[in-house]
Amino acid sequence: MRECIAKCDGCTLHIPEEVLATAPVEAVFVNGEGPQPAELMFVGEAPGENEVLQKRPFVGRSGQQLNRLLEKVNIKRTGCRISNSCICRPPNNRPPTVDEVNSCRPSLWAEVEDTNPRIIVALGRTAYSSLMNVPMELIPDLDAHHGFVYPCWIGGPRKLLFTYHPSATLRSILWESHCRDDLRRIGELLTTEEVIIDNVTWRNSLYNLPKSGVNQVL
Ligand code: URA
Repeated sequence: MRECIAKCDGCTLHIPEEVLATAPVEAVFVNGEGPQPAELMFVGEAPGENEVLQKRPFVGRSGQQLNRLLEKVNIKRTGCRISNSCICRPPNNRPPTVDEVNSCRPSLWAEVEDTNPRIIVALGRTAYSSLMNVPMELIPDLDAHHGFVYPCWIGGPRKLLFTYHPSATLRSILWESHCRDDLRRIGELLTTEEVIIDNVTWRNSLYNLPKSGVNQVL
């Protein structure tokens, strides 16, 4: 589905004067990569310059840091799906806006469904907001909630592990060590029971309807 992005006019990242005047549409978006299906999926924020040049997510500085973190916890990147909350590169590497994240959510959720992961790792607040479908002000504080596992319904029950974005872990060794500890939980999460559905409020289905119509508005 995310392959259809060249036809997307969902958000401001596709307004020609800002981005497309200087670049063809193929030069601003980056699809997810990795196997489908996959048990484990990582979701970041949006591609940067290197990602757009190589047409692959997480290949620049953040990507190298992600690779280092994965190596330290013995996770093979090639066995995982890696994607982003927004498929297009925001100009000047600014964070994506709420509108951009909202516009891209249906295609991210479709990618999640195609990947059918048991665990989704939300790398940072933008990914949490997109996957849990909550506004920025309802995102839990990362320092207090990193490593928490949230039930997340995207075409089925998933475990969402909330941790730091790799770029944040480059800025703080404390965050780096927290992130490593969080990622170490993945092995245990993969071998434990499915997400328990009873008595769980599927918080991410309470908000607006994604364009793909896969989730219900309650
Ligand atoms: N940061 C992200 O969130 N995603 C990338 O693909 C690269 C950097």
